[in-house]
Amino acid sequence: MAYDVIVIGTGPGGYVCAIRAAQLGLKTAVVEKSATFGGTCLNVGCIPSKAMLHASELYEEAGGRFAQMGIKVGRPAMDLPALHKYRLSNVESNVKGVAFLLKKNKIDAVQGTGRIVSPGKVEVKGPDGKTQVLETKNIVVATGSDVARLNGIDIDEKRIVSSTGALELPTVPNKLLIVGAGIIGLELGSVWRRLGAEVMIVEFLDHILPGIDSEIANQFHRMLQKQGLTFKLSSKVTAVDASGNTLKVKVEPAAGGAAETLETNIVLVAIGRVPYTDGLGLEGVGVKKDNRGRVVVDAHFRTNVTGIYAIGDVIAGPMLAHKGEEEGVAAAEIIAGQAGHVNYDVIPNVVYTNPEIASVGKTEEELKAAGIAYTVGKFPFSANARARANLATEGFVKILADAKTDRVLGVHILGPDAETMIAEAAIAMEFGASSEDIARTCHAHPTLSEAVKEAALAVAKRAINM
Ligand SMILES: Cc1cc2nc3c(=O)[nH]c(=O)nc-3n(C[C@H](O)[C@H](O)[C@H](O)COP(=O)(O)OP(=O)(O)OC[C@H]3O[C@@H](n4cnc5c(N)ncnc54)[C@H](O)[C@@H]3O)c2cc1C
Repeated sequence: MAYDVIVIGTGPGGYVCAIRAAQLGLKTAVVEKSATFGGTCLNVGCIPSKAMLHASELYEEAGGRFAQMGIKVGRPAMDLPALHKYRLSNVESNVKGVAFLLKKNKIDAVQGTGRIVSPGKVEVKGPDGKTQVLETKNIVVATGSDVARLNGIDIDEKRIVSSTGALELPTVPNKLLIVGAGIIGLELGSVWRRLGAEVMIVEFLDHILPGIDSEIANQFHRMLQKQGLTFKLSSKVTAVDASGNTLKVKVEPAAGGAAETLETNIVLVAIGRVPYTDGLGLEGVGVKKDNRGRVVVDAHFRTNVTGIYAIGDVIAGPMLAHKGEEEGVAAAEIIAGQAGHVNYDVIPNVVYTNPEIASVGKTEEELKAAGIAYTVGKFPFSANARARANLATEGFVKILADAKTDRVLGVHILGPDAETMIAEAAIAMEFGASSEDIARTCHAHPTLSEAVKEAALAVAKRAINM
């Protein structure tokens, strides 16, 4: 029997694409090589990292701000095996949830590694080594990404780890050295620092969080230093000697110069991720990739080979679960003859540290580079009543609006619960709102989101509580 759509990979891009295709009446199958569905995000990415961040944040709160609010709990203790159990049970419930949804939508789930033998034919090699060939009108490649590696540094997932190993450390290391001050490095660095490790982050660039509005990134850098993380910027790790009891890490200035050797117990390589297409057979059928190994697609997620589409981390754009989900929905709708579309100008980005960073739209640097005149409205959480009640006053909201039309071009939040508040900004931008639209929208009091309204008022220099 031939399918209408076979999706290879069941990460957030793939499983969402399959569900949308099934909703639209297409006969759909997914092929997944791992034992569980959900891809990087559910198994070793978004979900387990947020479980670790949530638990470690509460642990720190219990030992810190609780006392300021009159709550006496004594000195909290961390039961690391129980924390890992909690993380794993979270993963399990999520991946089982995907299995349930696939079944509910009558999607055939085929376990095994998929290889495209020709347009319309996917060979699947099952865990038992047996192969079968599935026929389909359309193939969606949603094979995601893998950890980027450093030349000459072998990740053993024990002492030299990727994010996957860093989620599973069986004991709190005395010293953790992280290569890369991007989102994953800062999130996992925060987790282990809260649990008691001495954390140093080595970053090639002269600033942390590349791509984030630099005013936000610079303030956040100072906050992280206050929390106890140490940084070595404009530096590169060139070798790790794992022969002794401790790891000896060779660090050089990024621009070249004398190297120094740092000792640590664990090295986390968090320099990014690369698209994953190993064994997929793309070369055989002539699917084009770019110079970074990403599958090249047009605005309709079509590769250069008719009937083969690609979405998620394996194509260009930010490597984010929700970006892949949007693409999955759009690709399914396009295959079904509808007008699926993704608005890449409104993809929120969140750093789940404490405080959080959440942003959507353009940064100041991007607007300057594009020569777009803009106005800025800012409001600090220290002037927000709810933030003061919550003893969480660090950070600010910043709104960038077009100088001529007042249309909101970017919103950047450094502060408590930024992850939730950014949705308001995304909806406003999706509807082409002006800063005045946000400013004239009634926000409940006392809420953190009033800081968004005040920042919008500040664009026209008329904030009330500042
Ligand atoms: C530590 C960490 C934390 C993260 N936190 C966040 C976060 O908070 N928010 C966020 O938005 N993003 C986060 N991400 C990124 C997010 O996980 C990815 O952007 C997302 O998973 C990409 O989805 P995808 O569907 O494109 O691919 P993936 O999730 O990578 O899924 C690809 C799937 O394809 C399967 N596959 C590959 N090749 C084959 C084959 N030949 N045959 C069959 N199956 C195959 C793989 O087994 C996998 O299941 C995080 C990532 C990491 C590592």
